[in-house]
Amino acid sequence: MKKLLLLLLLSIISIICISQMSKDRRDKNQKYLDNYTATNKILSNDVILQEKIIQILNSKEHCYRVIYGDSVRVFNESYPAANPLSKYQNQIIYLMLINLRDTSFCNTIGKIIKCDVENIYSECGGIVLFTTHNKIYLKCIKSLMENLYDEDFNDSYYLPEKEDTLPKIAYFHLHATTYNEDLYAGPSLLDLLHSLFILPNNMTNEFVITSIEKGKFNIDYYGIDMRFGEIKVSRGVKIVDLGVYTYK
Ligand SMILES: [Zn+2]
Repeated sequence: MKKLLLLLLLSIISIICISQMSKDRRDKNQKYLDNYTATNKILSNDVILQEKIIQILNSKEHCYRVIYGDSVRVFNESYPAANPLSKYQNQIIYLMLINLRDTSFCNTIGKIIKCDVENIYSECGGIVLFTTHNKIYLKCIKSLMENLYDEDFNDSYYLPEKEDTLPKIAYFHLHATTYNEDLYAGPSLLDLLHSLFILPNNMTNEFVITSIEKGKFNIDYYGIDMRFGEIKVSRGVKIVDLGVYTYK
């Protein structure tokens, strides 16, 4: 009985610690984004922001995922009707979209895709950071499991805890085991579940980059922002296809 009570107590303490940790992390990320976006007219106006995103997305070619594990299930990736987002999520998507206009930014993604294709022990991934106002870059960080040199981990990515504490705009990872992964464009069921697990201060933002052929990639945003009472709420995990891009 004593053992059971102790176990229960330890579980409660660990849940409280995780909750506090994730709240701190959430606030740190929010502050990081606010520092860079406060003076930007588009990023600080939710209505204009949404209009701009729709405009860009309408001009893009899209690639939707059709295979989820063994079953075929299609998620609605359209924006914003099926995926209403919080202002914070819109800001993150808009930042990515304006950076994707830059050929050198896309070419850098091409280099990361090449690394992922060549890496047989892990997917590539990391965190999205600012260089200056409105300019972002993808910081690649070696996956935790890569050090095991086990090919079973070639289709997964695990950000080390130490790096997760850094303030960031979002996470990212690649689906580029080969150059032709178009059937797996966008987040997998496991990716979506992972977003849901970051409870109870539920807020994750992630980009997944899928190689659809050599020289071409698709990028999706997926995430969750459930800060009730603080901002416009978007329930559940949302997926938005950000389009198909080329690189050299
Ligand atoms: Zn994935």
